[in-house]
Amino acid sequence: MRTCVTQSMRRRVSFLPFLLLLVASACARQVLTTSTSVAPRSDASGTSRGVVATLGPLSGSETVNYILGRGLLVPVSGIVASQLRDTFDEGRDGGRVHRALDILAPRGTPVLAADDGRVLRVRRNSLGGNTVYATDPAGRVVYYYAHLDAYQPGLAEGATIARGDVLGIVGTTGNAPKDTPHLHFQVMRMPADGKYWDGEAINPYPLFLLLHAARP
Ligand SMILES: [Zn+2]
Repeated sequence: MRTCVTQSMRRRVSFLPFLLLLVASACARQVLTTSTSVAPRSDASGTSRGVVATLGPLSGSETVNYILGRGLLVPVSGIVASQLRDTFDEGRDGGRVHRALDILAPRGTPVLAADDGRVLRVRRNSLGGNTVYATDPAGRVVYYYAHLDAYQPGLAEGATIARGDVLGIVGTTGNAPKDTPHLHFQVMRMPADGKYWDGEAINPYPLFLLLHAARP
């Protein structure tokens, strides 16, 4: 009996931060709705820098609320929030902190756009392998997808994308272990200077859980 009470209390305590976040989100959503209603839909024209200059950057907590307001898709086909593991604060080679989620999936699984928006960059680098940088329609959030084995044919910088569009397939390019195909997925706040590859990282893990709880 005592065990049951303890477990129940633990559950309640561990869920409390999420509830608080949810309330904060609900409060902020109205404000954000107002500000985004005047945001230019810059999908097809204008650069991200131009959009940021028009809107002004969001703070870290505003960005969290903004993402919650938009919703965010787990960006690997067939994977749901409850299957994710929080790898955001894990250490990596060279004393780095991960600051991203590794989403394990069989090689070749489609990688999906987590949000509507625009492709900023499609390029290969030594750590990330085949990577994609994308932004939301208002240019406030940056999404980074890495280790893709291949890109979706026709994917190009500047292209408008919709949530759920296929960007490529899960793989192990870059420094990913060859026996552990996964998507390295990072969410960043678009910085004021427009250097989208260098924004403050935001942990999407609790956001996925919250969104999953709201819309299972
Ligand atoms: Zn990673």
